[in-house]
Amino acid sequence: MKTNIFKYALVLGLISVFTSCENEQIDNQNQNQEVPKYDETSLSNDFFGRKSSTDCHFEYEGIDGPEFWADLCGEDWKDCGGNSQSPINIITSSVVEDASINNINTNYTISSTNIFNNGHTIQFNYDAGSSASLNNIDYNLLQFHFHTGSEHIVDGVQYPMEMHLVHQDPVTKLLAVIGVFFEEGKTNKELNQFMNNLPEHEDDHYVSNKKYHIKDMLPGDMDFYTYSGSLTTPACSEIVTWYVVKEAIKASHWQLERFEQIMHENFRPAQALNGRLVWAND
Ligand SMILES: [Zn+2]
Repeated sequence: MKTNIFKYALVLGLISVFTSCENEQIDNQNQNQEVPKYDETSLSNDFFGRKSSTDCHFEYEGIDGPEFWADLCGEDWKDCGGNSQSPINIITSSVVEDASINNINTNYTISSTNIFNNGHTIQFNYDAGSSASLNNIDYNLLQFHFHTGSEHIVDGVQYPMEMHLVHQDPVTKLLAVIGVFFEEGKTNKELNQFMNNLPEHEDDHYVSNKKYHIKDMLPGDMDFYTYSGSLTTPACSEIVTWYVVKEAIKASHWQLERFEQIMHENFRPAQALNGRLVWAND
């Protein structure tokens, strides 16, 4: 009898697992359903245990533009006026080279395709199970997204696009973001497989079982600049260690233009260093 009850419970459990997976699939197909967040505002709220500030709104120009972000949401976005903000202008002659800094050590695997337009960027949520060891801490890769033009600039030079791979330490909830620059050149084959499915409008998303590997989208040489900074969108929380990769990857004029067409210019201007040092691993 005991065994039968156990079997019954097991079957019920399995049914509920399958049902919930199915629901998730259906939800993801629905354009107006909420998808897993992982956007920067949610990650910051997670870290501070705050509820999301749904009434607050920001833009990249005008009266809700970057210079006013700190005042747009009461206390919640005050960090946007902080002393350790991102992005920055990386002045290569001032970078401190330190061979003892570990290389980026990734343990990435494949993911299904889950692309979301959150109104500020095109975000690719990445399936659980991929991580990177950065400065001896294991961070989970949650999502990556794009900015046109680049947010970080190097010796005052801006790239046409920058990709941000957002990682979270599951214990402390602190973030590590790997920034990768794009420069104009030949067609980017990896990016090309998504070009026809980029969600055009806010809250649109695209879900497919088609698998891809984030590693295929990264430069061969992952040497980087690193510094302590913040999220580059409100709440601008200063909970991010940045790893800005030196080598840029290529995308065609048309590909870069397409991203800009959808996202418009969504870069925050460089913020003051305020005495912070920028390091390089090599
Ligand atoms: Zn970003």
